Amino acid sequence: MFKKTPGTKDILPDEVSSWQTIEETTRNIFSFYNYKEIRPPIIEEAALFNRSLGESAEIVQKQMFLVKKDKDVYALRPEGTASIVRAYLENNLDKTAGLIKVYYIGPMFRAERPQKGRLRQFHHLGCEVIGSQVPYLDAEIISLADNLLKAYTIEGYEIKINSLGCTKDKKEFTEVLRKSLKDKIPKLCDDCKVRFKTNVLRILDCKNEGCIEVVKKLDIRQNHLCPECKGHFDKVKEGLDSLNIDYKVNPYLVRGLDYYTRTVFEIIHGDLGAQNALGAGGRYDNLVHDLGGPSTGAIGFAFGIERLLLVASREYRVESKKLVYIITLGEDAKKEGLKLLNNLRRAGITSDTDYEDKSLKGALRRANDLSARLVLIIGEDELKKGAVALKDMVSGEQKEVKQEDLIKSLKLIVTGQ
Ligand code: AMP
Repeated sequence: MFKKTPGTKDILPDEVSSWQTIEETTRNIFSFYNYKEIRPPIIEEAALFNRSLGESAEIVQKQMFLVKKDKDVYALRPEGTASIVRAYLENNLDKTAGLIKVYYIGPMFRAERPQKGRLRQFHHLGCEVIGSQVPYLDAEIISLADNLLKAYTIEGYEIKINSLGCTKDKKEFTEVLRKSLKDKIPKLCDDCKVRFKTNVLRILDCKNEGCIEVVKKLDIRQNHLCPECKGHFDKVKEGLDSLNIDYKVNPYLVRGLDYYTRTVFEIIHGDLGAQNALGAGGRYDNLVHDLGGPSTGAIGFAFGIERLLLVASREYRVESKKLVYIITLGEDAKKEGLKLLNNLRRAGITSDTDYEDKSLKGALRRANDLSARLVLIIGEDELKKGAVALKDMVSGEQKEVKQEDLIKSLKLIVTGQ
Protein backbone atom coordinates (compact mmCIF):
# COMPACT_ATOMS: atom_id res chain seq x y z
CA MET A 1 0.00 0.00 0.00
CA PHE A 2 1.26 3.50 -0.75
CA LYS A 3 2.09 5.78 2.17
CA LYS A 4 2.05 9.56 2.25
CA THR A 5 5.34 11.37 1.67
CA PRO A 6 7.18 12.03 5.00
CA GLY A 7 6.40 15.47 6.39
CA THR A 8 3.00 15.70 4.70
CA LYS A 9 -0.37 15.24 6.32
CA ASP A 10 -3.82 14.09 5.25
CA ILE A 11 -6.37 16.54 6.57
CA LEU A 12 -9.22 14.10 7.14
CA PRO A 13 -12.91 14.97 6.94
CA ASP A 14 -13.22 15.17 10.75
CA GLU A 15 -10.42 17.74 10.98
CA VAL A 16 -11.53 19.86 8.05
CA SER A 17 -14.16 21.74 10.04
CA SER A 18 -11.42 23.16 12.30
CA TRP A 19 -9.51 24.31 9.22
CA GLN A 20 -12.64 25.88 7.80
CA THR A 21 -13.28 27.74 11.05
CA ILE A 22 -9.73 29.12 11.04
CA GLU A 23 -10.07 30.10 7.38
CA GLU A 24 -13.48 31.69 7.85
CA THR A 25 -12.32 33.67 10.89
CA THR A 26 -9.21 34.75 9.00
CA ARG A 27 -11.21 36.02 6.02
CA ASN A 28 -13.54 37.94 8.33
CA ILE A 29 -10.79 39.64 10.31
CA PHE A 30 -8.78 40.55 7.20
CA SER A 31 -11.88 42.02 5.60
CA PHE A 32 -12.44 44.23 8.69
CA TYR A 33 -8.95 45.64 8.02
CA ASN A 34 -9.81 46.12 4.33
CA TYR A 35 -7.39 43.47 3.02
CA LYS A 36 -8.22 41.63 -0.22
CA GLU A 37 -7.28 38.03 -0.90
CA ILE A 38 -4.56 37.18 -3.42
CA ARG A 39 -3.87 33.70 -4.85
CA PRO A 40 -0.49 33.42 -6.55
CA PRO A 41 0.59 30.06 -8.05
CA ILE A 42 2.19 27.39 -5.90
CA ILE A 43 5.04 26.92 -8.36
CA GLU A 44 7.44 29.73 -9.27
CA GLU A 45 10.77 30.12 -11.01
CA ALA A 46 13.32 28.95 -8.40
CA ALA A 47 15.51 32.00 -9.03
CA LEU A 48 12.78 34.24 -7.58
CA PHE A 49 13.39 32.73 -4.14
CA ASN A 50 17.20 32.68 -4.48
CA ARG A 51 17.08 36.37 -5.27
CA SER A 52 14.50 37.36 -2.64
CA LEU A 53 15.40 35.19 0.33
CA GLY A 54 19.15 35.36 -0.32
CA GLU A 55 21.53 32.66 -1.55
CA SER A 56 22.75 31.99 1.99
CA ALA A 57 19.27 31.50 3.50
CA GLU A 58 18.76 27.98 4.81
CA ILE A 59 15.55 27.66 2.82
CA VAL A 60 17.42 28.33 -0.40
CA GLN A 61 20.48 26.27 0.54
CA LYS A 62 18.74 23.15 1.75
CA GLN A 63 14.97 23.26 1.76
CA MET A 64 13.56 24.08 -1.64
CA PHE A 65 11.63 21.43 -3.50
CA LEU A 66 12.89 21.92 -7.03
CA VAL A 67 11.10 20.78 -10.17
CA LYS A 68 13.17 20.59 -13.33
CA LYS A 69 11.41 20.76 -16.68
CA ASP A 70 13.59 20.88 -19.77
CA LYS A 71 16.00 23.74 -19.08
CA ASP A 72 13.82 25.47 -16.51
CA VAL A 73 14.03 25.07 -12.74
CA TYR A 74 10.93 25.76 -10.69
CA ALA A 75 10.38 25.62 -6.94
CA LEU A 76 7.34 24.67 -4.91
CA ARG A 77 6.95 27.93 -3.02
CA PRO A 78 8.59 27.84 0.43
CA GLU A 79 6.86 31.10 1.49
CA GLY A 80 4.45 33.68 0.11
CA THR A 81 6.14 37.08 0.18
CA ALA A 82 8.42 36.68 -2.86
CA SER A 83 5.51 35.44 -5.05
CA ILE A 84 3.31 38.30 -3.96
CA VAL A 85 5.91 40.94 -4.71
CA ARG A 86 6.48 39.25 -8.08
CA ALA A 87 2.73 39.32 -8.77
CA TYR A 88 2.51 42.95 -7.59
CA LEU A 89 5.18 44.00 -10.08
CA GLU A 90 4.21 41.74 -12.97
CA ASN A 91 0.59 42.94 -12.83
CA ASN A 92 1.59 46.60 -12.46
CA LEU A 93 -0.21 46.92 -9.15
CA ASP A 94 2.45 49.44 -8.13
CA LYS A 95 1.11 51.74 -10.85
CA THR A 96 -2.60 51.07 -10.51
CA ALA A 97 -3.27 50.31 -6.88
CA GLY A 98 -0.86 52.47 -4.85
CA LEU A 99 -0.73 50.97 -1.38
CA ILE A 100 -2.04 47.43 -1.46
CA LYS A 101 -3.12 45.24 1.42
CA VAL A 102 -3.48 41.56 0.57
CA TYR A 103 -3.79 38.28 2.44
CA TYR A 104 -3.29 34.68 1.39
CA ILE A 105 -4.02 31.20 2.71
CA GLY A 106 -2.35 28.15 1.23
CA PRO A 107 0.27 25.40 1.27
CA MET A 108 4.03 26.02 1.46
CA PHE A 109 6.80 23.48 0.95
CA ARG A 110 10.15 23.10 2.71
CA ALA A 111 12.33 20.02 2.70
CA GLU A 112 13.01 20.13 6.44
CA ARG A 113 13.55 17.22 8.80
CA PRO A 114 9.97 16.36 9.80
CA GLN A 115 9.11 16.59 13.51
CA LYS A 116 6.29 17.88 15.72
CA GLY A 117 5.19 21.24 14.31
CA ARG A 118 7.60 20.96 11.39
CA LEU A 119 6.27 19.58 8.14
CA ARG A 120 7.42 19.49 4.55
CA GLN A 121 4.04 20.63 3.31
CA PHE A 122 2.45 23.06 5.76
CA HIS A 123 0.02 25.96 5.43
CA HIS A 124 0.51 29.65 5.86
CA LEU A 125 -2.05 32.30 6.38
CA GLY A 126 -0.43 35.64 5.96
CA CYS A 127 -0.60 39.14 4.62
CA GLU A 128 1.48 41.79 2.93
CA VAL A 129 1.13 45.56 2.78
CA ILE A 130 3.15 47.01 -0.08
CA GLY A 131 3.69 50.70 -0.74
CA SER A 132 4.59 52.43 2.52
CA GLN A 133 7.25 52.75 5.18
CA VAL A 134 5.15 54.47 7.83
CA PRO A 135 5.70 52.95 11.27
CA TYR A 136 1.98 53.12 12.02
CA LEU A 137 1.53 50.23 9.57
CA ASP A 138 4.01 48.13 11.54
CA ALA A 139 1.99 48.70 14.68
CA GLU A 140 -1.27 48.01 12.87
CA ILE A 141 -0.03 44.78 11.33
CA ILE A 142 1.25 43.48 14.68
CA SER A 143 -2.09 44.34 16.27
CA LEU A 144 -3.83 42.58 13.36
CA ALA A 145 -1.80 39.44 14.12
CA ASP A 146 -2.80 39.81 17.77
CA ASN A 147 -6.46 40.23 16.84
CA LEU A 148 -6.36 37.14 14.62
CA LEU A 149 -5.06 35.07 17.55
CA LYS A 150 -7.76 36.48 19.81
CA ALA A 151 -10.39 35.63 17.19
CA TYR A 152 -9.08 32.03 17.06
CA THR A 153 -9.46 32.07 20.89
CA ILE A 154 -5.76 31.27 21.29
CA GLU A 155 -4.21 32.42 24.57
CA GLY A 156 -0.80 32.30 26.21
CA TYR A 157 1.28 33.61 23.32
CA GLU A 158 4.07 36.17 23.46
CA ILE A 159 4.84 38.87 20.88
CA LYS A 160 8.55 39.64 20.48
CA ILE A 161 9.71 42.58 18.39
CA ASN A 162 13.02 44.02 17.26
CA SER A 163 14.45 46.34 14.64
CA LEU A 164 17.25 45.15 12.37
CA GLY A 165 17.69 48.65 10.96
CA CYS A 166 18.32 49.55 7.33
CA THR A 167 20.78 47.72 5.05
CA LYS A 168 23.66 49.84 6.33
CA ASP A 169 22.74 49.15 9.96
CA LYS A 170 22.43 45.45 9.25
CA LYS A 171 25.86 45.42 7.67
CA GLU A 172 27.40 47.21 10.64
CA PHE A 173 25.64 44.89 13.06
CA THR A 174 26.93 41.90 11.08
CA GLU A 175 30.48 43.22 11.35
CA VAL A 176 30.20 43.86 15.10
CA LEU A 177 28.77 40.40 15.59
CA ARG A 178 31.48 38.77 13.50
CA LYS A 179 34.16 40.52 15.55
CA SER A 180 32.70 39.49 18.87
CA LEU A 181 32.14 35.88 17.75
CA LYS A 182 35.48 35.40 16.04
CA ASP A 183 37.30 33.76 18.95
CA LYS A 184 34.22 31.72 19.94
CA ILE A 185 33.85 29.79 16.68
CA PRO A 186 35.01 26.46 18.18
CA LYS A 187 32.13 26.63 20.68
CA LEU A 188 29.51 26.99 17.91
CA CYS A 189 27.57 24.12 16.34
CA ASP A 190 28.49 22.97 12.81
CA ASP A 191 25.61 24.92 11.23
CA CYS A 192 26.67 28.12 13.02
CA LYS A 193 30.26 27.63 11.90
CA VAL A 194 28.92 27.92 8.36
CA ARG A 195 26.56 30.75 9.36
CA PHE A 196 29.56 32.67 10.71
CA LYS A 197 30.73 33.00 7.12
CA THR A 198 27.42 33.23 5.27
CA ASN A 199 24.69 34.59 7.55
CA VAL A 200 26.11 35.56 10.92
CA LEU A 201 22.86 37.14 12.20
CA ARG A 202 21.27 33.70 12.12
CA ILE A 203 23.61 32.56 14.93
CA LEU A 204 21.48 34.66 17.30
CA ASP A 205 18.56 32.44 16.41
CA CYS A 206 20.24 29.05 16.86
CA LYS A 207 18.50 26.61 19.21
CA ASN A 208 21.70 24.66 20.02
CA GLU A 209 22.53 24.84 23.78
CA GLY A 210 26.21 25.68 23.17
CA CYS A 211 25.34 28.49 20.75
CA ILE A 212 22.69 29.87 23.12
CA GLU A 213 25.37 30.07 25.87
CA VAL A 214 27.77 31.91 23.55
CA VAL A 215 25.08 34.30 22.31
CA LYS A 216 23.85 35.06 25.84
CA LYS A 217 27.24 36.54 26.73
CA LEU A 218 27.30 38.91 23.75
CA ASP A 219 25.33 41.70 25.43
CA ILE A 220 23.49 42.83 22.32
CA ARG A 221 21.43 46.02 22.35
CA GLN A 222 20.01 48.21 19.62
CA ASN A 223 23.23 50.24 19.37
CA HIS A 224 23.55 49.53 15.67
CA LEU A 225 20.43 51.50 14.67
CA CYS A 226 20.95 54.79 12.79
CA PRO A 227 18.89 57.80 14.02
CA GLU A 228 16.19 57.30 11.32
CA CYS A 229 15.78 53.61 12.08
CA LYS A 230 15.79 54.26 15.82
CA GLY A 231 13.09 56.93 15.30
CA HIS A 232 11.07 54.51 13.18
CA PHE A 233 11.29 51.80 15.83
CA ASP A 234 10.30 54.26 18.60
CA LYS A 235 7.18 55.16 16.61
CA VAL A 236 6.32 51.47 16.13
CA LYS A 237 6.52 50.95 19.89
CA GLU A 238 4.44 54.09 20.55
CA GLY A 239 1.82 52.78 18.11
CA LEU A 240 1.75 49.40 19.85
CA ASP A 241 1.45 51.05 23.24
CA SER A 242 -1.45 53.19 22.09
CA LEU A 243 -3.17 50.05 20.77
CA ASN A 244 -2.54 48.35 24.13
CA ILE A 245 -0.61 45.47 22.60
CA ASP A 246 1.39 43.36 24.99
CA TYR A 247 4.88 42.90 23.47
CA LYS A 248 8.50 42.46 24.47
CA VAL A 249 11.48 44.04 22.72
CA ASN A 250 14.07 41.35 22.11
CA PRO A 251 17.35 42.63 20.62
CA TYR A 252 18.33 39.04 19.81
CA LEU A 253 15.40 38.53 17.47
CA VAL A 254 16.51 38.10 13.85
CA ARG A 255 14.91 36.55 10.78
CA GLY A 256 16.59 34.07 8.50
CA LEU A 257 15.85 35.79 5.21
CA ASP A 258 17.92 38.50 3.58
CA TYR A 259 15.01 40.70 2.65
CA TYR A 260 14.07 41.77 6.18
CA THR A 261 14.91 45.31 7.32
CA ARG A 262 13.83 47.41 10.30
CA THR A 263 10.87 45.96 12.25
CA VAL A 264 10.80 42.19 12.72
CA PHE A 265 8.51 40.25 15.03
CA GLU A 266 7.75 36.74 16.11
CA ILE A 267 4.87 35.28 18.08
CA ILE A 268 5.71 32.27 20.20
CA HIS A 269 3.66 29.84 22.27
CA GLY A 270 4.97 27.78 25.18
CA ASP A 271 2.84 24.72 24.37
CA LEU A 272 4.50 24.18 20.98
CA GLY A 273 7.77 22.68 22.27
CA ALA A 274 10.97 23.14 20.29
CA GLN A 275 9.26 24.66 17.23
CA ASN A 276 7.66 27.39 19.30
CA ALA A 277 6.87 30.05 16.68
CA LEU A 278 3.21 30.44 15.78
CA GLY A 279 4.00 33.11 13.26
CA ALA A 280 6.47 35.77 12.27
CA GLY A 281 6.99 38.69 9.99
CA GLY A 282 8.54 42.05 9.43
CA ARG A 283 9.47 44.85 7.05
CA TYR A 284 11.15 44.27 3.74
CA ASP A 285 11.72 47.78 2.43
CA ASN A 286 14.26 46.80 -0.27
CA LEU A 287 12.63 43.76 -1.83
CA VAL A 288 10.29 45.50 -4.27
CA HIS A 289 13.23 47.46 -5.64
CA ASP A 290 15.52 44.40 -5.64
CA LEU A 291 12.99 42.58 -7.82
CA GLY A 292 12.95 45.38 -10.36
CA GLY A 293 10.24 47.69 -8.97
CA PRO A 294 10.26 51.14 -7.40
CA SER A 295 11.78 51.90 -3.99
CA THR A 296 8.86 51.37 -1.71
CA GLY A 297 8.30 50.06 1.78
CA ALA A 298 6.53 46.80 2.56
CA ILE A 299 5.67 44.64 5.54
CA GLY A 300 3.98 41.30 6.16
CA PHE A 301 3.67 38.24 8.36
CA ALA A 302 2.59 34.62 8.22
CA PHE A 303 1.14 32.16 10.73
CA GLY A 304 1.49 28.39 10.35
CA ILE A 305 -2.03 26.97 10.37
CA GLU A 306 -0.94 23.54 11.70
CA ARG A 307 0.68 25.24 14.70
CA LEU A 308 -2.37 27.44 15.31
CA LEU A 309 -4.46 24.27 15.46
CA LEU A 310 -1.98 22.64 17.86
CA VAL A 311 -2.63 25.36 20.45
CA ALA A 312 -6.24 26.27 19.68
CA SER A 313 -7.97 26.18 23.04
CA ARG A 314 -11.23 24.64 21.91
CA GLU A 315 -12.23 22.26 19.20
CA TYR A 316 -13.53 24.27 16.29
CA ARG A 317 -16.72 22.97 14.77
CA VAL A 318 -18.51 24.92 12.08
CA GLU A 319 -21.01 22.24 11.39
CA SER A 320 -23.38 22.23 14.29
CA LYS A 321 -25.82 19.35 14.26
CA LYS A 322 -27.94 20.19 11.25
CA LEU A 323 -28.10 17.06 9.12
CA VAL A 324 -31.53 15.73 8.15
CA TYR A 325 -31.43 12.00 7.51
CA ILE A 326 -34.10 10.24 5.45
CA ILE A 327 -35.00 6.59 6.09
CA THR A 328 -37.33 4.84 3.67
CA LEU A 329 -39.02 1.48 4.09
CA GLY A 330 -39.89 -0.30 0.83
CA GLU A 331 -39.38 0.37 -2.86
CA ASP A 332 -42.17 3.00 -3.31
CA ALA A 333 -41.08 4.90 -0.24
CA LYS A 334 -37.54 4.89 -1.54
CA LYS A 335 -38.62 6.67 -4.74
CA GLU A 336 -40.55 9.22 -2.70
CA GLY A 337 -37.51 9.60 -0.40
CA LEU A 338 -35.19 10.39 -3.30
CA LYS A 339 -37.58 13.09 -4.53
CA LEU A 340 -37.83 14.56 -1.04
CA LEU A 341 -34.05 14.49 -0.66
CA ASN A 342 -33.73 16.46 -3.89
CA ASN A 343 -36.27 19.05 -2.68
CA LEU A 344 -34.57 19.48 0.69
CA ARG A 345 -31.19 20.01 -0.89
CA ARG A 346 -32.65 22.56 -3.30
CA ALA A 347 -34.13 24.35 -0.31
CA GLY A 348 -30.64 24.52 1.25
CA ILE A 349 -31.16 21.86 3.92
CA THR A 350 -28.20 19.51 4.47
CA SER A 351 -29.66 16.04 4.02
CA ASP A 352 -28.65 12.48 3.34
CA THR A 353 -30.13 9.01 3.20
CA ASP A 354 -29.34 5.37 3.71
CA TYR A 355 -28.62 4.19 0.19
CA GLU A 356 -28.25 0.58 1.23
CA ASP A 357 -31.77 -0.36 2.38
CA LYS A 358 -30.75 -1.14 5.95
CA SER A 359 -33.33 -2.19 8.53
CA LEU A 360 -35.01 0.68 10.43
CA LYS A 361 -32.79 -0.08 13.44
CA GLY A 362 -29.62 -0.17 11.33
CA ALA A 363 -30.58 3.04 9.52
CA LEU A 364 -31.28 4.85 12.83
CA ARG A 365 -27.91 3.74 14.14
CA ARG A 366 -26.29 5.21 11.02
CA ALA A 367 -28.20 8.49 11.51
CA ASN A 368 -26.89 8.60 15.04
CA ASP A 369 -23.30 7.95 13.91
CA LEU A 370 -23.61 10.86 11.48
CA SER A 371 -24.87 13.14 14.29
CA ALA A 372 -28.11 13.78 12.39
CA ARG A 373 -30.28 16.47 13.97
CA LEU A 374 -33.53 15.10 12.51
CA VAL A 375 -34.63 11.84 10.94
CA LEU A 376 -37.50 11.58 8.44
CA ILE A 377 -39.04 8.15 8.14
CA ILE A 378 -41.25 7.23 5.17
CA GLY A 379 -43.02 3.88 5.32
CA GLU A 380 -46.24 2.60 3.67
CA ASP A 381 -48.49 4.46 6.14
CA GLU A 382 -46.78 7.79 5.59
CA LEU A 383 -46.86 7.28 1.82
CA LYS A 384 -50.63 6.83 1.88
CA LYS A 385 -51.11 9.97 3.99
CA GLY A 386 -48.64 12.13 2.01
CA ALA A 387 -46.72 12.65 5.25
CA VAL A 388 -43.45 11.73 6.96
CA ALA A 389 -42.59 10.72 10.51
CA LEU A 390 -40.20 13.35 11.88
CA LYS A 391 -37.92 12.20 14.71
CA ASP A 392 -36.02 14.80 16.68
CA MET A 393 -32.68 13.16 17.53
CA VAL A 394 -31.98 15.60 20.37
CA SER A 395 -35.27 15.34 22.28
CA GLY A 396 -36.18 11.85 20.96
CA GLU A 397 -39.73 13.05 20.15
CA GLN A 398 -41.49 11.84 17.03
CA LYS A 399 -44.46 13.39 15.19
CA GLU A 400 -46.16 13.20 11.83
CA VAL A 401 -45.76 16.13 9.44
CA LYS A 402 -47.56 16.67 6.12
CA GLN A 403 -45.21 16.80 3.14
CA GLU A 404 -46.38 20.29 2.18
CA ASP A 405 -45.49 21.69 5.63
CA LEU A 406 -42.22 19.82 5.84
CA ILE A 407 -39.62 22.27 4.52
CA LYS A 408 -40.95 25.07 6.70
CA SER A 409 -40.85 22.89 9.85
CA LEU A 410 -37.39 21.58 9.04
CA LYS A 411 -35.94 25.02 8.46
CA LEU A 412 -37.39 26.22 11.73
CA ILE A 413 -35.69 23.41 13.66
CA VAL A 414 -32.41 23.23 11.73
CA THR A 415 -31.62 26.90 11.09
CA GLY A 416 -34.02 28.63 13.46
CA GLN A 417 -35.52 30.59 10.51
P1 AMP B 1 8.56 31.48 8.55
O1 AMP B 1 8.26 31.86 7.14
O2 AMP B 1 9.62 30.42 8.65
O3 AMP B 1 8.80 32.64 9.46
O4 AMP B 1 7.25 30.77 9.07
C1 AMP B 1 6.13 31.44 9.57
C2 AMP B 1 5.34 30.42 10.35
O5 AMP B 1 5.03 29.30 9.52
C3 AMP B 1 6.12 29.81 11.52
O6 AMP B 1 6.05 30.62 12.64
C4 AMP B 1 5.40 28.50 11.69
O7 AMP B 1 4.19 28.67 12.39
C5 AMP B 1 5.05 28.11 10.28
N1 AMP B 1 6.06 27.18 9.71
C6 AMP B 1 7.24 27.49 9.14
N2 AMP B 1 7.87 26.38 8.73
C7 AMP B 1 7.07 25.35 9.04
C8 AMP B 1 7.16 23.93 8.87
N3 AMP B 1 8.20 23.35 8.28
N4 AMP B 1 6.13 23.16 9.31
C9 AMP B 1 5.06 23.73 9.92
N5 AMP B 1 4.92 25.05 10.09
C10 AMP B 1 5.91 25.86 9.68
